[in-house]
Amino acid sequence: MDIKENLTNIENAIKASCDKVGRDPNTVNIVAVTKYVSVATTKAALDNGLIHIGENRAEGALEKWEELNERGVWHFIGSLQTRKVKKIIGKYEYLHSLDRLSLAEELDKRLKEGQKIKCFVQVNVSGEESKAGIEPNHLRTFIDQLADFEKIQVVGLMTMAPFYEDPELTRPIFKQLRQLRDEIKSLKLDHAPCTELSMGMSNDYLVAVEEGATFVRIGSALVGRE
Ligand SMILES: *Cc1c(COP(=O)(O)O)cnc(C)c1O
Repeated sequence: MDIKENLTNIENAIKASCDKVGRDPNTVNIVAVTKYVSVATTKAALDNGLIHIGENRAEGALEKWEELNERGVWHFIGSLQTRKVKKIIGKYEYLHSLDRLSLAEELDKRLKEGQKIKCFVQVNVSGEESKAGIEPNHLRTFIDQLADFEKIQVVGLMTMAPFYEDPELTRPIFKQLRQLRDEIKSLKLDHAPCTELSMGMSNDYLVAVEEGATFVRIGSALVGRE
């Protein structure tokens, strides 16, 4: 895997998509998803200038975090069991999968005084049963309830689209997440500024960028699988 070459190609493609819709490419952050790769490859990602590292397993990522934590900004992107919260606490600046109050409660309890975690509320836009996330019509209530937890900062919304051969088919899902984000953002809530959109993976990140993604989560197309 040539991470440097992959990154250049991805950045150029993102720039082209941004040009198409009149966006500034600097507003798109690449989260390098390293869940399939070793510590060495994760280090190589950082060496190539990537800053945001995404992992989806508390234990699986521990070794990487211990060796490399001073260098990156760490994102927990997978579903998180409540009992595993203590394993990730203080290690990750971002959580992309906040999907229930019990999780918010546990995070709020475990974080130290003055610590905060930046959260994306995961929304199940596609409605697939296999996908985690809040249903779109429950989102507003959920966001309001999160005001009770002072250590939770809702920075944005996240979704996972189904895998389609033709990434164009994901567009309506990303569009809907953006509309939901705009609705919450317009409320100007202190605990939920909700300015960000975490959407798009290796197969569909360009469509997500066209629809406003500010964080794309890219694994296989960037760092490969080992
Ligand atoms: C694995 C994973 C990704 C990256 O997947 P690729 O298709 O390899 O880019 C992105 N987001 C989440 C939540 C993941 O679990």
